[in-house]
Amino acid sequence: MAKGFDLTAAIRTIPDYPKPGIQFRDITTLLADADAFRGAVDALVDGHRDEQVDLVAGIEARGFILGGALAHQLSAGFVPIRKKGKLPHDTIRVAYSLEYGVDEMEMHRDAVRPGQRVLLTDDLIATGGTAEGAVKLLRELGAEIVAACFVIDLPDLGGRKRLEALGVQVRTLIA
Ligand code: 5GP
Repeated sequence: MAKGFDLTAAIRTIPDYPKPGIQFRDITTLLADADAFRGAVDALVDGHRDEQVDLVAGIEARGFILGGALAHQLSAGFVPIRKKGKLPHDTIRVAYSLEYGVDEMEMHRDAVRPGQRVLLTDDLIATGGTAEGAVKLLRELGAEIVAACFVIDLPDLGGRKRLEALGVQVRTLIA
């Protein structure tokens, strides 16, 4: 990991965003800090360099930024998991739970071939509902999920345990 930075300090907390009572962990400050961004990416790829990752799957939107960098470091391809209606070709879709209600996300049907080894990423895991939806899509396409990695874990919300119960290895940098 790069020296001379503090990952936690590089993340900004915005009180009452997007609604009262929520403390939003804002990683735009981390992304804008060259040492912190590099350090986070290096730490996330560290455990996976020898695992022959074929593809990194990133969850819209902050998972795209991390996922592109991870894919480059791992010499892997990148596939986007997007909110419904954004991908231009034939897609598969899954409903996933949000704090209040549900939404749907999609992947291109031909984005992953059966047996390809995929590393899933997003900036943060809270309840794990979003990541669980992504896991379902990847498994529907026959992906072998190497791990799911996140910069931030909010452990009180149980997302890590939820993914582990699905048999997915979880790696996070900050709790
Ligand atoms: P979950 O589905 O695990 O409850 O929520 C995780 C998803 O919501 C991720 O896609 C993540 O980007 C977003 N999210 C929820 N809370 C926060 C937050 O405080 N900061 C950031 N950056 N993303 C959040």
